[in-house]
Amino acid sequence: MVCVRVAVRVRPLNKREKDLSSKVIVHMEGKTTSIINVKDALTNSSEVKPKSFTYDFSYDSSNDEKPNFVSQDKVFTDLGHDVLEDAFEGYNACILAYGQTGSGKSYTMMGNAGDVGLIPRICEGLFSRITHLSQADHTSFHTAVSYLEIYKERVRDLLSEGRCLRVREHPVEGPYVEGLSTPQVHSYSDVEKLMEKGNGSRVTASTAMNDTSSRSHAIFTINFRQAQLDAEQPSETTSKVHLVDLVGSERADAARGGWMRLKEGASINKSLVVLGNVISALADMSMSGGSKMKKKGSFIPYRDSLLTWLLKDSLGGNSKTIMIATISPANVNYTETLSTLRYANRVKNIVNQPTVNEDGSV
Ligand code: ADP
Ligand code: MG
Repeated sequence: MVCVRVAVRVRPLNKREKDLSSKVIVHMEGKTTSIINVKDALTNSSEVKPKSFTYDFSYDSSNDEKPNFVSQDKVFTDLGHDVLEDAFEGYNACILAYGQTGSGKSYTMMGNAGDVGLIPRICEGLFSRITHLSQADHTSFHTAVSYLEIYKERVRDLLSEGRCLRVREHPVEGPYVEGLSTPQVHSYSDVEKLMEKGNGSRVTASTAMNDTSSRSHAIFTINFRQAQLDAEQPSETTSKVHLVDLVGSERADAARGGWMRLKEGASINKSLVVLGNVISALADMSMSGGSKMKKKGSFIPYRDSLLTWLLKDSLGGNSKTIMIATISPANVNYTETLSTLRYANRVKNIVNQPTVNEDGSV
């Protein structure tokens, strides 16, 4: 049994926040993230009491001149390497990026051309290991990827022009998306082309804070299989790695974009509410010392949203899971940031049961 690991990452002030002369109210030291209340910060009182939370990692990416600055590469070295290790050992793994729109989820997961994020780095790392290992022993590897989006409670296949697909439940393998494209990839450049194609198919309606694909959940999945065929005991391990860029966690508010947006916001939030309910139920279960363990499954509302249904294994199941909560450093986002920090704090209590997916009878 292992807990879901949680990292919090704070980005630099953006232009809008600077234009509003925002104050930086988030501070990090070691594993601890502290936030100061807006009003206290404005009065500059020496009595200011910050709220502090401790996570597995607190990543300060707010200023690259600070000695504790955390780069894209450092995030990959800490978290991405572990995910690769898990995949090669035959564990499922998952990274979820959670946070307000504009806080740095997509930057952390996908990044930009100049400084790529976790997904490209993990894929590149995977192929460099495969190349290395293929030379050393007689293991054969099979890698395939899929890329989907959940928008208004519909699954869209990003590798197939956004075609809508259904989620179904396999009696043994669990939930899956029927007819989802899962092309085999042989090199990092194969993956790069698919990522580009998929990113181009995302829904791109604009919001007040950010005009890219922040209104849908995106799930990039690596299906990885290795087979040791001519060993004394032939064996095969499989691993599924979900890399998830969640929808913005902010509440839909009427000030942003009128009725249609509000309606859309309501269904966007439904899946986040369900995610919250699933997380709460799992956290309660582990905090009750496992006494409710036996009833597991009967009251975790996975099926209430497509997101939680598809990520069932990643939340409380057979996976090593990491959540990265991204936040803004600015006082103007105090309420959202505090709510993200509390959410992330709750996630720390979730216990998963990862096992090696091994088939010795190949
Ligand atoms: P989200 O996906 O949460 O809506 P984005 O990842 O799109 O937010 O980030 C919003 C903007 O802030 C982007 O222009 C992005 O490049 C920038 N940004 C986010 N995080 C960082 C960071 N750690 N360092 C530098 N720029 C960042
Ligand atoms: Mg985004």
